[in-house]
Amino acid sequence: MKDANFLKEHNARHLWHPMAHPADSLANPPDIIVEAEGVQIIDVDGHRTIDAVGGLWNVNLGYSCQPVKDAITAQLNRLPYYSIFRGTTNDNVIELAEMLAAFFAPDGLSRAFYTSGGSDGVEVALRLARQYHKIRGEAGRVKFLSLKKGYHGTHTLGASVNGNANFRTQYEPLMPGCYHTPAPYTYRNPFNETDPERLAQLCLAAIEDEIMFQDASTIAAFIMEPVLGAGGVIPPHASFMPGVRALCSKHGILLIADEVITAFGRTGGWTGSRHWGVRPDLLVSAKAITNGYFPFGAVMVSEGVAEVFEKDTSGRGAIGSGYTYSGHPVGAAAAIACLRETERLQVQLNAGARGAQLFAGLQALMARHEVIGDVRGGHGLMCALELVADRGSKTPIDKKTIGKVHRATYEAGVMVRVSGNNIILSPPLVVSETDVANILSALEAGFSAI
Ligand code: PLP
Repeated sequence: MKDANFLKEHNARHLWHPMAHPADSLANPPDIIVEAEGVQIIDVDGHRTIDAVGGLWNVNLGYSCQPVKDAITAQLNRLPYYSIFRGTTNDNVIELAEMLAAFFAPDGLSRAFYTSGGSDGVEVALRLARQYHKIRGEAGRVKFLSLKKGYHGTHTLGASVNGNANFRTQYEPLMPGCYHTPAPYTYRNPFNETDPERLAQLCLAAIEDEIMFQDASTIAAFIMEPVLGAGGVIPPHASFMPGVRALCSKHGILLIADEVITAFGRTGGWTGSRHWGVRPDLLVSAKAITNGYFPFGAVMVSEGVAEVFEKDTSGRGAIGSGYTYSGHPVGAAAAIACLRETERLQVQLNAGARGAQLFAGLQALMARHEVIGDVRGGHGLMCALELVADRGSKTPIDKKTIGKVHRATYEAGVMVRVSGNNIILSPPLVVSETDVANILSALEAGFSAI
């Protein structure tokens, strides 16, 4: 490995980071992570921290998951690559499809379409939704609805349904025909409603209003995260997603669950949709499917949608989407091992228990630190602290102050993620009670530094 000075200098000179200003690497040099073990990461200066970000919401089983590492190594030696485009397949993708169908059976999803990540998956799901309606003779159903604050990756269709201006403005014009409705975000919403259940009803009424305004017969799909993640961890009231499901069914609109973060246990249930008792028509998974060790994803398709494609005799059912790395045999091997380990460890149970501990600790932290305006979580291991200059006006905290909290927390031994004026926590699902206590005490140090 090159020495620390070489790495720091050339990072700033030659590397552009996703989701960052190119000049930022000079002003705020990133931490250079060079090793990891268990739920901890180690930077180039030898500083060890608990990774309370879980990679990027994906390293659910931590960094020492030997079965996944072994599966990748063995597969690299046996068959490092072959395509699954029409005419060829490989043993791993078949075994994995069968496992995924069993895993997602309670969600009513039985077919897998492989991708190389979440953005690809969102793109595929939206395209399949349009195609589904075309096959059925409803070619006018081309529009998409989604939630403000939603995050659906950065491909053009995904960015078009994204509900955050930061990921849109510089790339407009995006795809026409994408419309956004208010998020069930209790802390800030256009209705000034603070009761989560009443807010859910208002948001549902706004969705139906938009459906009527657009004309239901022009809408292909509604896409949503069961718990809004990157937008600042916004869990809706339990009535919300079932309400969206009911509206979609009533108006012939497909429901796409974007579970790039929430699938595989993060919410304390195996999937976010199941957590809310909802069966989506399509479900996008990625991230934790390989524990973050290999880029991979799977769009899961319900029986009802699959039948329309499979029974098509017109030729319109041929799928015109796919990636060189769709069904990569190494990714599939990683996913098989990861799914086995995920189920063996029953990580969703630990996510529920440790998530409750973390959420309670964060609420106690809020009582001690005026700068925390809102604490969100309570559904597994995904939580956020929203920081404000003062609680009365809810003015978002400035970048410099939140940066200071982040740095001091890191120095106290925990890596957290800053997104806008939120601090996001999504640790591996295998964290222990002591790890969570350590995360909380490092945050205490972080907030005491400002
Ligand atoms: N959808 C959701 C809900 C996500 O959180 C993300 C990434 O964080 C994506 C899609 C995009 O996934 P990827 O970054 O793997 O392309």
